[in-house]
Amino acid sequence: MSTPARAPISEQHAILYETVYLPLRGEARTIPRPIPRPLPFRAGSRFLIWKQDPTVADPGVRMSFIPSLILDGPHDSRIATDLSGTTPVHPNINRDFLFAPGTPEFDCAHSFAVVRETLTMYQRILGGAPMPWAWNTGGNTDCLTVFPRAGVTANAFYSRSQKALKFFYFTPTGASLPVYTCRSLDIVAHECGHAVLDGIKPGWLGGGTPQTGGLHEAFGDLTAIFLACSQLDQVEAAIALSKGNLHDKNLFLSALAEQFGSALGLPHGLRNADNDLKLSQVGNEVHAISQVFTGAIYDTLADIYQFEKNAQAATKDPARVLLEVAARLQKVLLDALLAAPAMGATFADVVNKMLNISNANGEPPIYRTFLRNQFTLREVVVSPVPLTAMREGRINMSDPNFLEGKDLLSMEACRHPADRAPQDRSKCCGTMQLPEYTMGDPKKRESGASITDEDIMSGELLELAGAFK
Ligand SMILES: [Zn+2]
Repeated sequence: MSTPARAPISEQHAILYETVYLPLRGEARTIPRPIPRPLPFRAGSRFLIWKQDPTVADPGVRMSFIPSLILDGPHDSRIATDLSGTTPVHPNINRDFLFAPGTPEFDCAHSFAVVRETLTMYQRILGGAPMPWAWNTGGNTDCLTVFPRAGVTANAFYSRSQKALKFFYFTPTGASLPVYTCRSLDIVAHECGHAVLDGIKPGWLGGGTPQTGGLHEAFGDLTAIFLACSQLDQVEAAIALSKGNLHDKNLFLSALAEQFGSALGLPHGLRNADNDLKLSQVGNEVHAISQVFTGAIYDTLADIYQFEKNAQAATKDPARVLLEVAARLQKVLLDALLAAPAMGATFADVVNKMLNISNANGEPPIYRTFLRNQFTLREVVVSPVPLTAMREGRINMSDPNFLEGKDLLSMEACRHPADRAPQDRSKCCGTMQLPEYTMGDPKKRESGASITDEDIMSGELLELAGAFK
């Protein structure tokens, strides 16, 4: 019996037809043949997360898609989750981690998702290459472990020696329900920001001037702000809520850790980026110093946004403009931090790097006018000519080349008596107060090595050894 003849495949109007020979009928028939489709991208899981925290009703909880492989835990190659009696948390049959808010499973999934989104955000800015945790040197691939309910206290921290982010919970005086710090996108992003910065600048957390400590604390807060500004729905909600005014006092973008703040009686978050603090007002108190830097960057974002919103009013939705403007400013800031000194960096070091990078990127001169103005106003740098256009409302927001004085790319640091003082970290987040970053051998701390309990107690142990002879 001869093999049935097959006619060549023909293509008509993008549908494939194939003519096959039916031997029993003794005839050939043309039938449609399904077009092969490329396999869909299968990796990725959906998570339910608080977009801000449980007290911020709009945007509330929403589903978020993380387009990478996530295993039971949840964990992946960079991040693990640990909650005794709950983890590993298992996804559903579609590999989605969707749980009811308030459950331990939800807290695990939420904390993992926000840490993952934060790390991914920074990696995308740098072109997608993996960013190391501080201990990822010499081939070490250990991940960062997230503890969503690490214990009872009003605290959260990043620990290099424990390779961990720990989020605690507490019941405010007079309240019936606890506040879980892991449920705040701002707090989780802030602590993850410490871990990210410690990976690229290991010499900053354990030493330096008060401003070096301020940069670490500010990076945490700015990480939370830029994470919100990188998410389409948050940007849309922010613009709708504020009508595009980033200085609106009710705007959740500038208010950080709202639920934690309200437990302490603070109506606009634990901290607020929309502040007017100057360096002469904050001494050597690192938490307040950080707000000077955070505030200057936030105001610069608001200025650039105002300019671009006007310039692109006819062609782009204002929410899309904010998304783009924030991403560009964040990249300039991250590149500036990377280029700043490995030890003892100051605000002026970072501002000057930002001016240079902005210029090299071909950004309009008015961007640098904003930067110079905001950081001069806050007494971070000194301008050779008085900068008054901003305070007098004379900046021409429709002129991309608007300058006050020259387009300087390097400015002198404004000197303050507290510059050489030791860091006062007493009002910082849990990370900055950990003994591992303030005690033991300063050289070992600044080298980026992990400080053990024995290192921290080495002085006392030496004394005891002498006493116990
Ligand atoms: Zn912090």
